[in-house]
Amino acid sequence: MSKTVAIFNQKGGVGKTTTCVNMAAGLGQKGYKTLLIDIDPQGNSTSGVGIDKSEVEFSTYDVMIGEQTARSVMIETEFKNLYLLPANMNLAGAEVEIAELENRNSVLKRSIATLIMEFDYVIIDCPPSLGLLSINALVAADTLIVPLQCEYYALEGLSQLISTVRTIKQHYNEHLELEGVLFTMYDGRLKLNQMVIDEVSQYFPGKPYKTAIPRSVKIAEAPSFGKPVIYYEKYSKPSFAYKKFVEEFLKNQ
Ligand code: ADP
Ligand code: MG
Repeated sequence: MSKTVAIFNQKGGVGKTTTCVNMAAGLGQKGYKTLLIDIDPQGNSTSGVGIDKSEVEFSTYDVMIGEQTARSVMIETEFKNLYLLPANMNLAGAEVEIAELENRNSVLKRSIATLIMEFDYVIIDCPPSLGLLSINALVAADTLIVPLQCEYYALEGLSQLISTVRTIKQHYNEHLELEGVLFTMYDGRLKLNQMVIDEVSQYFPGKPYKTAIPRSVKIAEAPSFGKPVIYYEKYSKPSFAYKKFVEEFLKNQ
């Protein structure tokens, strides 16, 4: 049985893509066959696992509009057990075209249904919006993980996020569950960081992962080498943190 996890937060720059790339690579490294689905037109997950966006002929977009099968578009990455449905700028136009389709909220779910049966885990990188692409991700997902930056503004938008998830549960995907909340860009020297963690922990009891991802320049460097940080700097703090997070995630399964 495969499990599909959407990494979702409508805010940009909170660590969604970094989490997707490292979680997917981490699961692969542990022996789980993993599919990373990039549905952000920025294609940062795509380049983050070493695939040149400009050379991507077909993307998740072509899969969603039914022009290509998921299997034919899927790329095997250089990383252990890690496969990718890539994104590029073509996806930017997808929302308009998908809006015209019947069952427009579930095109992603339907188009990957057969392929994902071969995988242990499917991780979806969402764009920073509440548009049709994100809705498709949440409809296709069994659970979602919300990355939160440990800062005051992280709390802003949380109620909107929760109400979106509630609407999706009510109308399109009653099984959708919050898998967990992951704190990113953590700086233990800042009191504010701990305050945000405490507040969110009260808001979502039991949902925050004990592992927080530290702020690290290695994370910012890794994508320019087309590698997840767990491969780029195996023995760095952020690498250990992402691996610990993956272990926590697996323990909850
Ligand atoms: P999102 O997908 O939510 O927009 P990203 O994962 O792309 O967020 O992260 C936004 C930026 O912050 C990127 O430049 C990324 O390299 C950087 N970043 C993410 N996590 C960390 C971290 N723990 N420490 C330092 N920089 C980070
Ligand atoms: Mg992103």
